[in-house]
Amino acid sequence: MRASRRAVLGGAAATFAAWPSRLLAASDPKVADLVVRNANVHTVDPSAARAEAFAVRDGRFIAVGTNDSMDGLIGKGTEVYDAKRMAVVPGFIDCHLHPDGETLLYEVLVGNPFEVELVTIESIVGKLRERAAKTPPGQWVEGFFYDDTKVKDGRLITRADLDRVSADHPVAVYHRGGHTSFYNSKAFELAGITKNTPQPFGGTFDRDSSGELNGRVTDNAQELLWKVGKRPDYSETEKLRRAKAGLAHLSRQFARYGLTSVHHEGGNFSALLEVRRDGELHHRVSYEPEQPMIDSMIANGWRTGFGDEWIRLGATSEHTVDGSFSERTMSIRAGYPGRKPPYYGNITTTQEDLDAWVERVWRAGIQPNCHTNGDTAIDMYLKSLERARRLFPKPDVRPKFTHATLADAGLIARMKAIDAVPAPFTSYAFYNPDKFKFYGEALMQHIMPYRSYLDAGIKVAAGCDFSPGPFAPLLGIQGMVTRTGWNGETWGANQRISVAEALRVYTWNGAYNSHEEHLKGSIAAGKLADFVVLGDDPLAVDPSRLKDIEIVRTVVGGRTTYAA
Ligand SMILES: [Zn+2]
Repeated sequence: MRASRRAVLGGAAATFAAWPSRLLAASDPKVADLVVRNANVHTVDPSAARAEAFAVRDGRFIAVGTNDSMDGLIGKGTEVYDAKRMAVVPGFIDCHLHPDGETLLYEVLVGNPFEVELVTIESIVGKLRERAAKTPPGQWVEGFFYDDTKVKDGRLITRADLDRVSADHPVAVYHRGGHTSFYNSKAFELAGITKNTPQPFGGTFDRDSSGELNGRVTDNAQELLWKVGKRPDYSETEKLRRAKAGLAHLSRQFARYGLTSVHHEGGNFSALLEVRRDGELHHRVSYEPEQPMIDSMIANGWRTGFGDEWIRLGATSEHTVDGSFSERTMSIRAGYPGRKPPYYGNITTTQEDLDAWVERVWRAGIQPNCHTNGDTAIDMYLKSLERARRLFPKPDVRPKFTHATLADAGLIARMKAIDAVPAPFTSYAFYNPDKFKFYGEALMQHIMPYRSYLDAGIKVAAGCDFSPGPFAPLLGIQGMVTRTGWNGETWGANQRISVAEALRVYTWNGAYNSHEEHLKGSIAAGKLADFVVLGDDPLAVDPSRLKDIEIVRTVVGGRTTYAA
């Protein structure tokens, strides 16, 4: 709570007042609105990697170079910002994230969305009991941001734990990974699920050693429970109000961490437009439509790229092919180490259905995007793409691979051949080391394989996957550079990349992911003036301190969206 209060108070006071001088400067066409001087600029522009100053006009960089070279651009109305040798980098771009601010604002959070924090099962039960006391019987009582390895008890939460919350309410605890959830007896009763219910395709109702339901439900099996029970019935007006409040809240959080562009997995589109209209959108959005919207895009000829510099239709949202990395349901060709009977993870579609889905969006000119964590799923998606390319050749499709978590050299070569743009987990290396023992070091050497992707010449981008992963870019970069987690464990050190490489992954490669590299991703004349001022130089600090570098200022299109 401390963090969000700071954003609201600090943000309101400092954020939106700065650098309003555009109108004054506009009278002289040679003069900049803003000049940043005495900066240690990492441009991520290969033609000039470093600079000490730059100028902004009408929301774009118009010059990048030395302090002296800016002199002629400074006029009466120009704001001059002395960066005092601080580092400046292009605005961070996250290419995979679920823009759910409503949960942060309104729901019971049983774990910490932003940072590593260990809780107890008792604290979860306590919070849910409080909510149950205020909830009519029969209505859902739900907890969000549960993380099974951030619980001091060292075991999974169970049906028995949740029965202690209430016998009159269906109770659910959702794993922040989004692929598993945990239910009480009332919830199973409402859904008509017993210990004898057969396992559905692509999911499981887990059981304990005596064969009873233990409460855990994975992947597709969750759908049976989502359908039952009551939830508050909000009017259309109230739904829109909540969606807008959630988005505006989330946008402030992004700015606080230096994000200037974010790829949204779906979300309320009207709310997004209205938040922008009201001046409360502080980041650019590549909007990735979900299925009903994809259908209407196809029916009406709308394609990836439609929109403007603030809101643009991007790839499709992630079409799910397999399970979860953090929740250990992703597909693994070789099987999970040490599991008896052998377990290969969940595949949630057939090859035939996937072929048909890929063909449809490919032919419609929409950038395909599939959630493929494990190697079996990546192989299936590649087969569908290779087929579509053979039957309907098209230039510059850039198929998006959300997560692309476990990939060997053979898969990576096929991804390169099709100019795939993967967006693997960024913050997991730091945030989730407590889960890597389930995979073991041999697999971890091919998991989140940033080094292998870069070495193969693939323009790999960043995809934190919030809610599953925290979205702080510097926390992500620390993990990608060190492969060392919060608990001190290092996994798959062969996949380390340099800070400069991680910076490029989080900026220019992110722009490439949405076909916008001509517009953003580096500090270069002509591009949108999106940048971040940092309290320390990421290329100079001890890598174990990267996540603690202060975000001093976040700027989008020349407008300050956050100031410390
Ligand atoms: Zn996702």
